[in-house]
Amino acid sequence: MLTKVIEQANIDHFTKWFNRAEKIVIISHVSPDGDAMGSSLGLCHFLESQEKTVNVIMPNAFPDFLRWMPGSKDVLLYDRYKEFADKLINEADVICCLDFNALKRIDGMAEVVKNSPARKILIDHHLYPEDFCKIIISHPKISSTSELVFRLICRMGYFSDISYECAQCIYTGMMTDTGGFTFNSNNQEIYFIISELLSKGIDKDDIYRRVFNTYSESRLRLMGHVLTTMKVFNDYNTALLTLTNKEQSQFAYIKGDSEGFVNIPLSIKNVCFSAFLREDTEKKMIKISLRSVGTFPCNQLAAEFFNGGGHLNASGGEFYGTMEEAVAQFEQALEKYKPLLLA
Ligand code: 5GP
Ligand code: MN
Repeated sequence: MLTKVIEQANIDHFTKWFNRAEKIVIISHVSPDGDAMGSSLGLCHFLESQEKTVNVIMPNAFPDFLRWMPGSKDVLLYDRYKEFADKLINEADVICCLDFNALKRIDGMAEVVKNSPARKILIDHHLYPEDFCKIIISHPKISSTSELVFRLICRMGYFSDISYECAQCIYTGMMTDTGGFTFNSNNQEIYFIISELLSKGIDKDDIYRRVFNTYSESRLRLMGHVLTTMKVFNDYNTALLTLTNKEQSQFAYIKGDSEGFVNIPLSIKNVCFSAFLREDTEKKMIKISLRSVGTFPCNQLAAEFFNGGGHLNASGGEFYGTMEEAVAQFEQALEKYKPLLLA
């Protein structure tokens, strides 16, 4: 049995909308990850099983290693089909906002979503949700939005309508947001849910391989390069990875190739904080990814030094300037946070 994490009032409220709604749009954050895709497609499969007309719209492309996910071919990319997506968003009865807490996380879609007359529900696990949805299901202690989608469907009384495809998507989101159940994954109910998903016939080992073991040769070589140039700050229990635009060209970098790199230095003994700085020429900035183990608040550092935020152990931000300047800014941050890094 699962604890009733989601408030009953929210379940009742959404059930009312759900009973009346015909057209439902599901959206998630820019650069969708496994949980954005998993929660969105999982909810989509369920809603479609209840004869709803559902459209999943993402701000931009999702990585290739999620292309196998059932339903991914029908995902509408806002940056390519803006007009059609705008129409769907404006005509929807309900918009489900999944795995993000602030309108700025959906980039160019923010305005049309904000102004759409549709009823809006947020289902998310990031801290401090903005107030742009009537129903807010926000549970930062739950490790993935996909898990929340599972809980929502079950609480509405539809466990039996969860299909094999739906279960595959939910499992993918739960797995990716916990690094294959290696962090944020001590809640025993996660394993009860996995057991329920297995009862739908999913092959969890196969999903792991499809997501984590489908690297290209160039990605692996890029990883080797980035690790070779890694800087370890032993006095700060910290490691730093960087990737310039020039290096991206050298290694035939394509979007998604550096996914997960930031976690690797955490496998060094005593390293409790890891950063990955990648030059993003398209957006003319340095994208910052931060990870920590234990109590080090990388979201606080991201907010203070890189105009960002996120979770305690996984956060990110942006830096406008050169790579050298970004590294200098990072070193300043380390100086300031040294007491916490050594705690
Ligand atoms: P990643 O390193 O995978 O890109 O991001 C990890 C987490 O950090 C995301 O789930 C998100 O919560 C947060 N995050 C990443 N980039 C930003 C950003 O630019 N601003 C804010 N507020 N949060 C971010
Ligand atoms: Mn998530």
